[in-house]
Amino acid sequence: MRVRIDDVSFFDECDPSQTKTGHIIIRDERIEALLEGGSAEPAESFDEIIDGSSKLVLPGLINAHGHAAMTLFRGYADDLPLYTWLTEKIWPAEDMLTQDDVYIGTQLAMLEMIETGTTTFTDMYVHMDRVAEAVIESGMRAVIGRGLVGLGEDRDEKLAEAIALIKDFHGAGNGRITTTLAPHAPYTCPEDFLKQIIDQAASLDQSIQIHIAETTKEVADLQKSKGMTPIRFLDGMGLFDQRVTAAHCTFLTDDDIDLMAHKDVRVAHNPGSNLKLGSGVAPLAKMLQAGLKVGLGTDGAASNNKLDLFEEMRLVALLHKGVLQDPTAVPAHKAFLLATTGGADALFLNDVGTLTPGSLADLILVDISSPRYYPRHSLLSHAVYSSQAGDVTDVFVAGRHLYKNREFLTIDKERVVAEAERRSRKFYAARRG
Ligand SMILES: [Zn+2]
Repeated sequence: MRVRIDDVSFFDECDPSQTKTGHIIIRDERIEALLEGGSAEPAESFDEIIDGSSKLVLPGLINAHGHAAMTLFRGYADDLPLYTWLTEKIWPAEDMLTQDDVYIGTQLAMLEMIETGTTTFTDMYVHMDRVAEAVIESGMRAVIGRGLVGLGEDRDEKLAEAIALIKDFHGAGNGRITTTLAPHAPYTCPEDFLKQIIDQAASLDQSIQIHIAETTKEVADLQKSKGMTPIRFLDGMGLFDQRVTAAHCTFLTDDDIDLMAHKDVRVAHNPGSNLKLGSGVAPLAKMLQAGLKVGLGTDGAASNNKLDLFEEMRLVALLHKGVLQDPTAVPAHKAFLLATTGGADALFLNDVGTLTPGSLADLILVDISSPRYYPRHSLLSHAVYSSQAGDVTDVFVAGRHLYKNREFLTIDKERVVAEAERRSRKFYAARRG
C-alpha cells in the first residue's frame, strides 16, 4: 500500500521556523519519503493520492501521561485539591466502573485524542484488557499498564493482572501496543509492593510509569516519614535502575534533578492538570537544562479536563515564560518537540514523533487556510501559538487513515458518545450525594 500526499507544507528540518512545500509518501506502515516539490512518479504507482494543499503535515502528537477512561468523570469533580479529589470523589466513583464502562470511556478518550491530533497515548488504569481491545480496534498506538494501588488486600491480584496484561498484549495490534508496569505513586504503594514491581519490571523487561512528587503534601509526608525526597527514596529502592517514566515531578530539588539526569529518568510533564488541581508548576526549564528527556501529557480528563495536546503545547510555552519572567523559556520549537519526540522519549518508543523517512507513518494534517495561520512568518509559531485542535483534518497511524476530512473511520462516534452518556448516569446520583 502506497499513499502520496501532494502539495503539503512541512517544517524545514534544518530550520523549523521555515516551511517547505512538497509531497510525502507512505509505504505500508512507514514514511518512505518527504521531499520538496512535486513527485516524478506516475499516479498509477500509488493506491491513493491525497491533496495536501492548504495543509501542514506534522508528526502525530504523543500524550505521555493519562488515564483514558477517566473521560467518564469529566466535570464530575472539579476545583478540589488532589488528595480530597482522589479519596472523596474519584476513588469511590472508580469502584463503580465496570469493564464495559472502561471500554467505552477509552473509546471516548480516543475519539477526542484523534480529533485533536494525537496518535500515541499512554494509559495507566483498570480493566486494561478491555483498553487493549479498544486500542487494537481503533488503530491508535498506546503504552498501557494496569494501574497499581497497593493499599488494599487485593494488591497481589492486581499485580497478577498487570503481569497477565504484559503477557497477553505486549506487541499486540501489529506492535502498536507496548505494555508497562504502572504503580500509582510512592504514597499509595507500600515499599515491599514497589520492590515486587521493580523485580517484575527487571525480569519481564518492562518500563515503569509512576506519579512522583505531584504535590507539596506528598513531598512533605515522605520527608516526615523517611527523611528523604520522593526521588531519593525511590532511588534507594532501585526504581531508577529500571526504565522509568515519572509523571508530574512538580516538586524537585536540584539534587533530585541531578540524580534523575544521571539515571536517565524520563518525565511526563502535565501543566494543565497540575494547574487545575492547584498542585503547582514543575521546574521544566531546570529539567531540560539538566538534559532530562521530557514529554507532555494531559493526565486524565477528570483533572484537565481535555485531552488536547495543541492546548497543552501552547500552555507549556506560555506558563514557564510567565512563571520565570523569561520569554525565552520554552520557545515554540521546544514546546513542539515536547509534544512529539519528547513524548516518544518519555515513553521509550522509537520511530515515532518525527517525519523522518523510515519512521512509522504516524502523522496528522492540519488545515492552515484559516486567518489565524496568516501571514506566514512561521508556521511553527502558528502551530504552537495560534492553532486550534479543530484544525486537524486527517490522522494516520502506522500508515492507516483513522480520521479523514474530520470523519472517524475506525470508531463509531455517535454510538460511543451516546453509550458514554448512558453509562455515566449512575455517577450522577453519586455526584450529588
Ligand atoms: Zn495521572
